[in-house]
Amino acid sequence: MLMYMIARTHDMAAITALTFVVVMISPLPPLSLATILLSLLANQLGAIAPDVDQPTAPFWRNVSFGRLFGPAATRLLGGHRFLTHSLVGVALAGWLFGLLLQFLQPIMPNVQVEYVWWAFMIGMISHLIMDSFTKEGVPWLLPLPIKFGFPPLRRLRVTTGKIVESFVIFPVLVILLILLCTMYYGDLVDLFHNKPIS
Ligand SMILES: [Zn+2]
Repeated sequence: MLMYMIARTHDMAAITALTFVVVMISPLPPLSLATILLSLLANQLGAIAPDVDQPTAPFWRNVSFGRLFGPAATRLLGGHRFLTHSLVGVALAGWLFGLLLQFLQPIMPNVQVEYVWWAFMIGMISHLIMDSFTKEGVPWLLPLPIKFGFPPLRRLRVTTGKIVESFVIFPVLVILLILLCTMYYGDLVDLFHNKPIS
């Protein structure tokens, strides 16, 4: 049995969540094209980041030597769905990603890094929310060793990697994204019409 949701479910959830937040807080101040593109990338990175604690996760399968370092990283992070699947982990990852962006800022002056940072965080939080719908639950409040899930009754939750995920959750996310893009088309187009920052 798969112990984690399929990566594309998380990718889809992250982009849907990002679009939702963007249309909810729009209009946004002028964003450069570089900011928009990097934000999308950071969002997808955040979407799979929590599963670094899973040695067979897409994250490790897609990097060279992943099979070598995956198991070690898993042990270091406390096993699947531990530190990286908690608010403490999200804060820690946010802090590290912020440092990385600060470090990279001098070589990418056209990027408004604060938006890239938010896109990453939205991706990561959407991952935890999605995992909360699964039987295994998520230890949101570590070091409190309780795994939370929705609905609270475990029996009603989704089994990861099963038909419900591929044929219900994924399509629902796609439909939500399409609805958001249709209903708020003007707001989204405005993002691209903004003059780049100088
Ligand atoms: Zn996960």
